[in-house]
Amino acid sequence: MTDRVPIVAGNWKMNKTAGETAVLIREIWAGLQADSGNLPCEVVVAPPFTSIPAAAEALLNTTIQLAGQNLFWEESGAFTGEVSGPMLKEAGCSHVIIGHSERRQYFAETDATVKKRITAAMKCDLVPIFCLGERLEERQSGRTFEVVETQLKSGLAGTIPHDPKRFVIAYEPVWAIGTGLTATPEQAQEVHALLRIKLGDLYGKSFAAEVRILYGGSVKPSNSRELMACEDIDGSLVGGASLTSADFLGIIRSGIS
Ligand code: PEP
Repeated sequence: MTDRVPIVAGNWKMNKTAGETAVLIREIWAGLQADSGNLPCEVVVAPPFTSIPAAAEALLNTTIQLAGQNLFWEESGAFTGEVSGPMLKEAGCSHVIIGHSERRQYFAETDATVKKRITAAMKCDLVPIFCLGERLEERQSGRTFEVVETQLKSGLAGTIPHDPKRFVIAYEPVWAIGTGLTATPEQAQEVHALLRIKLGDLYGKSFAAEVRILYGGSVKPSNSRELMACEDIDGSLVGGASLTSADFLGIIRSGIS
């Protein structure tokens, strides 16, 4: 038994203008308040950079937290198109998604750059949501455990996250992201359990017992309850289904037993 508070995080990707962001946040908060006002879990939303100021304003007086979808590891300078950790912090973010498979696939993100971003996030007290997961061919060739262990160790090399409550892992099998295919609870649970053991090897058993490991990959209201019920799954990172309040609220509510 642990007291890990689940997290449901919405990765909006390149969706929602500033105006649309404010509307969606108001709908989500209204839904949560109608439930009781007490969140069954921590809720985080990650809009695109240009919508972060509108999100920060709409989130005032709520307990929903704000995340960036990426950051650059330098704090400032000649890095056209990049956004730094201190900039996200100043804009109101508490979390930042790092190493998402779309960043790895389309923007040449590597384990080495993921590591630099994780270090930069922790330096400015942003909670990293560190994404990792195997591709379809890696699963089919029986390499899932080896791949996620390598990603975990490479992303964390030389890093010491002191507070397990301020460090989040998201296991996202690439073949399940945006495809409608979801890992079965058994497939997800065995990877989460492995990650927790490896985190224990790196940082000790009590760190591993406290750190939240989210599942991501086509999570919907209809499948989230059975995923959330798994021993080592502490919530979800949600893409497509976080773009409508009804689906996102459905996923949040599925964490209430
Ligand atoms: C994601 O983008 O992190 C994700 C899990 O997307 P989807 O829920 O759409 O598969």
